[in-house]
Amino acid sequence: MISPTLLEILACPVPECRSPLDAADSLLICRGCGLRYAITDGWPTLIPEEAVNAAGRAANPTEPEPQTP
Ligand SMILES: [Zn+2]
Repeated sequence: MISPTLLEILACPVPECRSPLDAADSLLICRGCGLRYAITDGWPTLIPEEAVNAAGRAANPTEPEPQTP
């Protein structure tokens, strides 16, 4: 579990968001944009590209663009 003191100084890493985070199980959930950040070995992975949104999908899916010849 993440310490409340650490949680207080953390904020969403998304530049347009910067909202406080809520701890839940092994996740941090942004109060603003709803992205979920995994906590690994007690340290949150505050990387927007690795976060997932409330629907459980990747925030920035890396699906290839449709190729139109
Ligand atoms: Zn956010």
